[in-house]
Amino acid sequence: MKDSFGRNINYLRLSITDRCNLRCHYCMPAAGIQSQHHDDILRYDEMLRIVAAATTLGIRKIRITGGEPLVRKGVIGFLEQLAALEGIEEIALTTNGILLADYARALSDAGVNRLNISLDSLNPHTFNEITRGGELKRVLAGIDEAEQSGMKIKLNMVAMRGVNDHELLDFAALSQHHPWSVRFIEYMPTIREQQWQQRIISGADILVLLNKHYQLEPLTSDHFCGPARPYRIAGAAGTIGIITPMSEHFCGSCNRIRVTSTGQAKSCLMSNENIDLRPSLGVRQQTELIDALKKVICGKPEYHRLGSDPDSTTPFSMASIGG
Ligand code: SAM
Ligand code: SF4
Repeated sequence: MKDSFGRNINYLRLSITDRCNLRCHYCMPAAGIQSQHHDDILRYDEMLRIVAAATTLGIRKIRITGGEPLVRKGVIGFLEQLAALEGIEEIALTTNGILLADYARALSDAGVNRLNISLDSLNPHTFNEITRGGELKRVLAGIDEAEQSGMKIKLNMVAMRGVNDHELLDFAALSQHHPWSVRFIEYMPTIREQQWQQRIISGADILVLLNKHYQLEPLTSDHFCGPARPYRIAGAAGTIGIITPMSEHFCGSCNRIRVTSTGQAKSCLMSNENIDLRPSLGVRQQTELIDALKKVICGKPEYHRLGSDPDSTTPFSMASIGG
């Protein structure tokens, strides 16, 4: 279905939990975020109903996210049911990779085609600091398993000045020998942690650095690049992507809506307005549910202003929405 600005909305990001086994400092405060009460989290059958309704409006790609989606019990059974829904062409999942070594094969067997793994450092100490306690070797073992199980892999690195910017070249080098898409994401001041201004590195600065050391070839964006501007280091097995939500928003080509684990539908990550889908989740309420989702799509703003005017958005944790 097209939104009011002619954008074709075919992608739903569904958060299945707000809980997480890490506490990345750019995503949540040290004490974590107040978890939603268990009863307020949608059941899997309710989520399946939402997705089924969304497919009637032309949603074809689903991304499962969180919090950390792999901490929710029953996730594999849910994914199997999701994959069986008519109209779904692609299932992707975003994970911090901590539990991935145990889940990779089952995810692939359940029908997950694509995996985004968030990884912000290749140094165990820095990784532990960024995530407030995460063990890098577990994520690396998870990536190995995911690769062996045949899923397409994207690594997402949030680039932060003074934190992990000295590793940008090492991350880019990963794309030379692995068929992965290594993506650099501009840091967003979503929770307004202290000194956030100093942390931001623009996509343009990242490109300048990469171009100094590598021969980068621009690629044409395809259906699967999403908001990333794609490049390849000459001769590399994989690709590089630059994602610039701050310096150059990509709202003009945005094709997505979001639903949180508590059933709040959002037309834009940065929007403060939600549509509560819970009153429309009864077995016989598919028409209401479809109407509610239509409203979300029609209400999609033309663009967000986080980059130009951070105060226009209320601080929030990505873990509560799904990123
Ligand atoms: N827990 C999973 C993970 O980390 O991949 C999925 C949920 S997490 C909220 C989704 C994505 O949001 C991650 O790639 C994370 O790096 C990104 N993210 C969270 N806070 C961010 C911020 N302030 N700026 C940029 N990206 C952020
Ligand atoms: Fe958890 Fe992902 Fe947020 Fe890190 S970015 S705290 S892994 S939800």
